[in-house]
Amino acid sequence: MTALIGISCSYSHSRHTFQVRSSYIRAVERAGGVPVILPAVRSDYAVERYVEYCDGFILSGGGDLDPLLWGEEPHPGLGEVDPERDQFELALVQGLLQKNKPGLFICRGLQVLNVALGGDLIQDIVSDILHRQTAPRYSPSHEIQIEKESLLYSLLNNDSVRVNSFHHQAIRKLGNGLKITAYSRDGIVEAVELPGSSFILGVQWHPEDLRDEGSFRLFSRLVESAAGHECQNPEAAADVEY
Ligand code: MN
Repeated sequence: MTALIGISCSYSHSRHTFQVRSSYIRAVERAGGVPVILPAVRSDYAVERYVEYCDGFILSGGGDLDPLLWGEEPHPGLGEVDPERDQFELALVQGLLQKNKPGLFICRGLQVLNVALGGDLIQDIVSDILHRQTAPRYSPSHEIQIEKESLLYSLLNNDSVRVNSFHHQAIRKLGNGLKITAYSRDGIVEAVELPGSSFILGVQWHPEDLRDEGSFRLFSRLVESAAGHECQNPEAAADVEY
């Protein structure tokens, strides 16, 4: 059995179009999973069906979360928000946690996970470290330091790696039950996980755009956890362009 991996996406209000970067799709496929895109729906029954139907989830990157979610006024540095996407993804997180389904929460996804568990966010980071790199997406920029007793360490086999960085928000108050497993040198939270869960991992960077073996393992472990066994894509070697 292959694992069906539901991937959240963004909505362009100007184009009336749901959209997600292709690198998420390719990363899941390379890892032996079957990617499906989950548009933000408004009905509870549809969210429930997504949760039931998919074996694992990726909450993808995107715009900012609405600070009203934790009772704060918008800061002048706040970027574009989409309350409808927020509501949908928060419901999706509640659902998948209840059903103990695995999830990989990427960039905005990590922030959604944190807010879903009662945490909040820094609306606009002030730091000496650049978290909005201008280098290409596949190019690692700043360093992170990884907690040794963690799922992330078991996947990357290193207590320090370089990651790419395309965010200006970050975790402030940590969500209930989450454990911080990586920081950048300026103290910004770069990874969290939920101990005791099947596989709940949040990363503040974009592993789907990196090309190293460790980044690939994040996706293969998600797919394996979703399938309940090891998975391999026999055609993966031919799939070089992404
Ligand atoms: Mn960063």
